[in-house]
Amino acid sequence: MTDDPRRQLPSVTRLLELTSLPANRLWVSLIEAELAQARATLTKTHEPIAESELARRVQQAVARSGPGLTEILNGTGVVIHTNIGRAPLSERAAAMAARAALGYSDLEFDLLSGHRSSRQDHLQSLLTLLTGAEAAVVVNNNAAAVFLALITLTQGRQVVISRGELVEIGGSFRVPDIMAASGTELVEVGTTNRTRLADYERAIGPNTAALLRVHPSNFQIRGFTEQADPLALAQLAHTHHLVMIDDLGSGSLLPLPAEPDVASRVRQGADVVTFSGDKLLGGPQAGIAVGRLTVIDQMKRHPLYRALRPDKMTLAALRATLWQTLVEPDQIPVRQMVTADPGALRRQAKRLIAHLKRRGVQASVRPKGGVAGGGSMPDVELPGVAVAIDPRPKSASAVQAELRQGAVALLVQVEGGMIVVDVRTLPAQRLAEVAEILARCLLN
Ligand SMILES: *Cc1c(COP(=O)(O)O)cnc(C)c1O
Repeated sequence: MTDDPRRQLPSVTRLLELTSLPANRLWVSLIEAELAQARATLTKTHEPIAESELARRVQQAVARSGPGLTEILNGTGVVIHTNIGRAPLSERAAAMAARAALGYSDLEFDLLSGHRSSRQDHLQSLLTLLTGAEAAVVVNNNAAAVFLALITLTQGRQVVISRGELVEIGGSFRVPDIMAASGTELVEVGTTNRTRLADYERAIGPNTAALLRVHPSNFQIRGFTEQADPLALAQLAHTHHLVMIDDLGSGSLLPLPAEPDVASRVRQGADVVTFSGDKLLGGPQAGIAVGRLTVIDQMKRHPLYRALRPDKMTLAALRATLWQTLVEPDQIPVRQMVTADPGALRRQAKRLIAHLKRRGVQASVRPKGGVAGGGSMPDVELPGVAVAIDPRPKSASAVQAELRQGAVALLVQVEGGMIVVDVRTLPAQRLAEVAEILARCLLN
């Protein structure tokens, strides 16, 4: 029994000593997990594990258990990717969020009068200026904005929507489910590909509260299609004293291809337009509803508003992003990436190739389309280039997986056995670091 290698594993105290770690609960729990794993391996293999090897594994576990999330360098060319945090903030927006986080601010305090104010005031004037709407309210995400609009404005009555717009976004936002959760009765009209104004008109009855449009933001229906004109639909709603709700999803504040812009929907008569803060707007996760003063006021007064209102860091970052949209739009990273000039991308690719060459890795430029992603601009290919690397003798998928395991993870794509790195979504000032990560993985 004494030669059971499991009995020769070092103690927690010994491993703390070997790794010079203090005995706090986090490090002790990581050591216990490594020891449990070692014990399980030993049961199968009976091969002893050296103390130094265990200490190395503990150190690795400690490195992976930092105070933050693991940083990712995005070499995929997908600008807005929900799984990796959608929009990266601008320097200015991040600085404003940090300033709000680190100290006190006039979040709900009117410095002129010395009285309480509303946290929504900081965004109101910028949003009305940008969209032409009378008023605005900001909540935690667009799903919350749609939910608050429905629960406030329909109060258990019916909402008419086209069958072509009963969409699912990102796996968990399904329009019929949100409507059910808000107590709204869904009335579907038209067909998947064609819905006319007359279809909506026929469905309107004494219990109808609103018409809802949802932008099909992550797919396109092609061929024999028809949708009601937004202006005519808003007029129909108003003739019947109904509220016109328009969920734009991404919603652009500046003109971009294949995306309806918020201001034109406001002009076309929508009473509420909802959109995300962290899609094409390029700000923090937030949901924005703009529209008529009476309608927005009603939403702010609903008891659930309190549960959906955003925190000070979000508000500060969003205010900075909206301010930049008016003052320095080309400083917003999402905008830079979506509108990047192919010539500039080619120069970036050449710089990355030079960094790689200096480290002994050969690479070439190839044309590659980027996408906006994240439920925006479906079907629009952004013209650009990528850097292609032949990973042999390693396999491309093995390299791709290994690149995800570093202290800073690098995401790349694999195409025809090649590693493909899209420079559109990589920060220009970090190309040397990207080359270093690639070389380390490819050459060892
Ligand atoms: C993305 C999207 C939503 C959900 O927005 P979140 O900010 O992710 O909550 C709702 N509706 C549409 C049309 C969308 O594209």
